[in-house]
Amino acid sequence: MEQADRFDTRAVHAGWTPEQRTGAVMPPIYMTSTYVQDAPGRPRAGYEYSRTQNPTRFALQDALASLEGAACGFTFASGMAAIHTLLLTFQPGDRIVAGNDLYGGSHRLFHRIQARWGLRFEYRDLTRAENLRKLPPGTRLLYLETPSNPLLGIIDLRLAVDAARAAGAEVCVDNTFATPALQRPLELGADYVIHSTTKYIGGHSDVVGGALLLRDGARKDEVWFHQNAVGAVNSPFDAFLTLRGLRTLHLRMQRHSSSAQLLAEYLLAHPRVRRTYYPGLPDHPNHAVARAQMQGFGGMISFELESEAAARRFLEGLRIFALAESLGGVESLVELPAPMTHASLSAEQRAAIGIADGLVRLSVGIEDPADLRADLERGFARIGA
Ligand SMILES: *Cc1c(COP(=O)(O)O)cnc(C)c1O
Repeated sequence: MEQADRFDTRAVHAGWTPEQRTGAVMPPIYMTSTYVQDAPGRPRAGYEYSRTQNPTRFALQDALASLEGAACGFTFASGMAAIHTLLLTFQPGDRIVAGNDLYGGSHRLFHRIQARWGLRFEYRDLTRAENLRKLPPGTRLLYLETPSNPLLGIIDLRLAVDAARAAGAEVCVDNTFATPALQRPLELGADYVIHSTTKYIGGHSDVVGGALLLRDGARKDEVWFHQNAVGAVNSPFDAFLTLRGLRTLHLRMQRHSSSAQLLAEYLLAHPRVRRTYYPGLPDHPNHAVARAQMQGFGGMISFELESEAAARRFLEGLRIFALAESLGGVESLVELPAPMTHASLSAEQRAAIGIADGLVRLSVGIEDPADLRADLERGFARIGA
């Protein structure tokens, strides 16, 4: 696959060419832990041990690298394992400035584990341009999510890259919500991209995984060393499933985005809804930035009802949206961030970020959008007068 081919063509083909021996169009699942050597220290085909090298994982890694415009990619047993492995390449005392509206598990990893090993974290609302200026001295990394979870905040990636460069820092973007089909941070100058491939990249809610992509190949060996030394790799079977999902990413993201736009407009106009958070709405505070740096606005919407009690009644009326954590699958999901995905934050922390008790988060699937809208109507009907 040539990098000159367009995105949708690479989504279908990158990472694999039909195999020499059998002509297999799809990568075999190389379920082997080890590989034969012709003489001590001379592995026959360069492969020694599957934690270090596995052809099925390499196919996925290469495909993701192609789609993100990366020099190289690494995949892991989960998104958290990818983030953890990246941060292990930093040094005690290094300062990391992170967005304050962050996946709850990332916040927990930073706060409860990485901080104990000497990384210093500071959280800021990076959707505001003024908070990107004057990064504290010694900042080594800007760590951000855009769109963010659960409030769909948008951070200006060009401004973030300029601010980091001026401070001598690098930039890591968790691109889980947008995927490379809608946003490619490395092309805008970011140094690292993180994915929970569990979400849109896998796309079918049947596999957990993570990825780390590097813009520059200079750190390839160092990151590979950490991937192998820490050992949080994905299995060949999981790599296969994730690559199978990836092949339709471009089509799925189009449908997720168009259906979410329709539902967001419906929610915005609904008298029961206090606020609707969706970057595709013209009244989103960073709608213009989203238009400039994204090729679509994605399938995630949050909206605020008057109370948690009202939100719980709303859920009882739903038949198609399943109540579950996670996101990004073909099926529509709904959850309440306060008691579910963001329960590890204190009530004060949630209030400071703006996560209301009545906030509802939707992962809009690829079902018929008219059926999804009718489902939301059932939810509102259940709230009652
Ligand atoms: C789910 C998620 C993660 C963590 O990924 P896992 O695969 O669950 O370990 C990280 N970032 C974001 C934005 C996520 O949605």
